[in-house]
Amino acid sequence: KFKSQLLSADEVRRALTRIAHEVVERNKGTQGLCFVGIHTRGITLARRLVEIIRSFEGVTPPMGILDITLYRDDLSEIGLQPKVRETRIPFDLHGKAVVLVDDVLFTGRTARAALDALIDQGRPSRIYLAVLVDRGHRELPIRADFVGKNLPTSKTEVVKVHTLEDDGEDSVELWEH
Ligand code: 5GP
Ligand code: MG
Repeated sequence: KFKSQLLSADEVRRALTRIAHEVVERNKGTQGLCFVGIHTRGITLARRLVEIIRSFEGVTPPMGILDITLYRDDLSEIGLQPKVRETRIPFDLHGKAVVLVDDVLFTGRTARAALDALIDQGRPSRIYLAVLVDRGHRELPIRADFVGKNLPTSKTEVVKVHTLEDDGEDSVELWEH
């Protein structure tokens, strides 16, 4: 059931523009900078950040993808176990400043699995986490370095992230599960 709109198309655009600037500022430029998007919408958002950086720095940071699936490994267990299905990183991660990108940060288990997969591929000098929405309820010591919007939610609520590329429009909505 729809509850409210959290971010409009303009607000999504501004949040991504701000994050892109924050990333370049924190990294002191685009040297060694690269992006890794996590499955569907994290990949879309990573592409957007790369494009925004290209537009103001004139440099296109390389980008890779991770496909991570959440599944229940045991019916008696509430927790979802994220497993990395596919990794496509067509460049050497050694010494790179990697920005992991996802749409929503919740328990932190997906980000943890992503870190594992990245570290398997090489030795980045730094890994950052960027998310469009941080909805709280962390179960691991994981935090995002760059956040579009912090949004305290209840566990029965769900955040719907729509993108122009995947859904025909940019928006973030709050729904009751
Ligand atoms: P976590 O692993 O931190 O519990 O959950 C994060 C992952 O699950 C992300 O890949 C994210 O896409 C998805 N996710 C968790 N909660 C939500 C939510 O409320 N809305 C959306 N769109 N994705 C969520
Ligand atoms: Mg996801």
